[in-house]
Amino acid sequence: MTAVRLPSIDRLLRSPACTPLQQRYGRDALLKTLRDLLDELREPARHGQLAAIELSEAVLAGRAGERLAAHHASRVRRVFNLTGTVLHTNLGRALLPDEAIEAITLAARYPLNLEFDLGSGTRGDRDDLITGLIRELTGAEAVTVVNNNAAAVLLALNSLGARKEGIISRGELIEIGGAFRIPDIMARAGVKLVEVGTTNRTHAKDYEAVIGPRSGLLMRVHTSNYSVQGFTASVATRDLAAIAHAHGLPLLEDLGSGTLVDLTRWGLPKEPTVQEALADGADLVTFSGDKLLGGPQAGLILGRRELIAKIKKNPLKRALRVDKLTLAALEAVLQLYRDPDRLAERLTTLRLLCRPAADIRAQAEGLLTAVAAPLGAGWQVSVEAALGMIGSGAQPVARLPSAALCLRPQQPKRLRGRALRELEERLRSLPIPVLGRLDDDALWLDLRQLDDEPAFRAQLAQLAEAAV
Ligand SMILES: *Cc1c(COP(=O)(O)O)cnc(C)c1O
Repeated sequence: MTAVRLPSIDRLLRSPACTPLQQRYGRDALLKTLRDLLDELREPARHGQLAAIELSEAVLAGRAGERLAAHHASRVRRVFNLTGTVLHTNLGRALLPDEAIEAITLAARYPLNLEFDLGSGTRGDRDDLITGLIRELTGAEAVTVVNNNAAAVLLALNSLGARKEGIISRGELIEIGGAFRIPDIMARAGVKLVEVGTTNRTHAKDYEAVIGPRSGLLMRVHTSNYSVQGFTASVATRDLAAIAHAHGLPLLEDLGSGTLVDLTRWGLPKEPTVQEALADGADLVTFSGDKLLGGPQAGLILGRRELIAKIKKNPLKRALRVDKLTLAALEAVLQLYRDPDRLAERLTTLRLLCRPAADIRAQAEGLLTAVAAPLGAGWQVSVEAALGMIGSGAQPVARLPSAALCLRPQQPKRLRGRALRELEERLRSLPIPVLGRLDDDALWLDLRQLDDEPAFRAQLAQLAEAAV
């Protein structure tokens, strides 16, 4: 082939093939993409390595269009969480109920009384938007809300215990995923850590022995993401509160997941409730908004009025405060708790956690052939019993009986690992990526959270196109 000339960038930009691209992405983005393309083609064109057609306006516009579409595609993508873990931290934890989504839209679109008291016409406090509800639901005297529970713990520790000692059992010096470690948080909060007891056993006398003039608070952390079994002992909140109060110290309890309802009512594992912790004497309780509560990411601090007042005066509170969208969603979610009888229908997280295994199995059976067909003969697809998890540290050893589509490669053993990885990748590259779980030489799609079955079905044909 002979050398071919590159078209001029100006002509290309004005060409009819490029007009729709300019309308969609703007002149600057189009110009830059065309420049990059032409730069890459300059050398091959000079050396005669390109056919004239490859430099035609239509072909170049087509290539520019592909690049622009890829570049402008949203990085935030919806996915199907078929991992079996309901509150999956890496997949955004709790899914919000419609009421909360509507509240967010409203708060985003219009001005609102975020820090404005409509009764008196004077400046208000954003925490007031949910204080009444929290008091009604939990009996707590006061509440303040921050960005997440890690922030809540940091803020509470700093407000109550800066330059003093924080006393905690060695069995509760936990690490939550993402570098949240109690000893590190204490250090950053300016609280001197005083560990008592041992990893498996801590007694009341261990706390008593270290309380002194420099003590600032007693802390209890719900060991949410692991379980200590066997020869164990810990001091109950009620007894710990008695010790703290006998010495004029506050007890701070980090519940982690925290829930406002007794989950055993729906056959779920027992998780300590916020009301129980308060009734047992904890002076402050902290927990997440987006774990079992089923709301937006937030950290709630509930408890005694004067302690909450102290927290609100801490400059860190301003740095850690929540935004209006979170508060709007939180209020809507808390509203649902006023009617516990309908909670399992209306609160998305609870509804998903409560889905009976038989329902999930029926759904899996209904989907069996639709999933098996595009995969072809290389895969055996069956409906199997599966065990899911609540996730986000709630009840780490408890399992949720569920059902899954089990996708098993039919190749010789040595080729199965690769086949599974490829299938996993194919599922991940679908328009709405599907995320399952690899286990026992098979890919498991736990259907507990498959709400939008039509959208799932609609893309199954593409699984065949991508087949390798
Ligand atoms: C999850 C958890 C946290 C952190 O909460 P975030 O809302 O993720 O910041 C802190 N403490 C415990 C015990 C937890 O389980």
